Amino acid sequence: MSDNKSENDIKEKILNLAKKNPKGITDKDITVAIPELKASDLVIVLNKLLQQGCFDLYNQGGSLSYRLKTQVNKQAVKGADNEEKVVFNLIEEADNKGIWIRDIRVRSNLANTQLTKVLKSLESKKLIKAVKCVNASKKKVYMLYNLEPDRSISGGAWYQDQDFESEFVDILNRQCHRFLQQRADKIKNNPRGPIIGRTQSYATAAEVQKYITDLGISNVKLEVEDVITILNTLVYDGKAESSVYPDGSKVYRAIESLIPAPGIVQVPCGICPLVLKCCSTGLVTPQSCTYMTEWLE
Ligand code: SF4
Repeated sequence: MSDNKSENDIKEKILNLAKKNPKGITDKDITVAIPELKASDLVIVLNKLLQQGCFDLYNQGGSLSYRLKTQVNKQAVKGADNEEKVVFNLIEEADNKGIWIRDIRVRSNLANTQLTKVLKSLESKKLIKAVKCVNASKKKVYMLYNLEPDRSISGGAWYQDQDFESEFVDILNRQCHRFLQQRADKIKNNPRGPIIGRTQSYATAAEVQKYITDLGISNVKLEVEDVITILNTLVYDGKAESSVYPDGSKVYRAIESLIPAPGIVQVPCGICPLVLKCCSTGLVTPQSCTYMTEWLE
């Protein structure tokens, strides 16, 4: 970093990265995104950004995470009236878990109509947003506009607008299994012997996550924990087994199911989202069902 210009360029890149990752970024994320940045320069730039009050510092799983401060919002709310400031501060405090309207009302002491007006005004200024809770369809919580809702609110990668994406989960399930299967097939007749071959057929969740990310089948960013959830379903289904490496990391490998699943277990109706609408007459019937036809073939 020879001059001010390159320092400013780096600052801008880091700030842009932080904007794209509202949950926060770590040193590692920055070095991956800006590989040319030296470790000593990274420390200098981060210290300056922290001094300028650009970031909030968090401890995320043992490593430091930098989260962009809601400065812009603070500026925008400066000229607002007192009610808006009070409501904004309560919502800001709630972070990405959000706050329920009833709690805002109790804590702000505002009347119903007044509060609705304030919330609408803040929403129209794009300072806050209302987010539906995945576990209570009628419950909405408010959080700052630029925050990504916590998993307990959004349901994580498996939910889209409160709906469980069963098809997406099914595709991921098959792709994860495919990856493990391919790895197992590759080292089937390992010349170095069956024990080494067996060890090499294990894959970590991070490897599977990289494979899924490279496939580009997911619009949402899948975390390693998401992939672990899918891999665990493969273990429960008897399609994979898990083990723990000496360093403590959990690994997975595809296995041949010892007993084929009995036919009745494979009936598509068990996981069919239309099962409640399916009957002998009407639009959805077993006679016209393609899943059923495929299963019977
Ligand atoms: S018959 Fe087809 S549509 Fe009806 S419940 Fe079974 S899988 Fe679903």
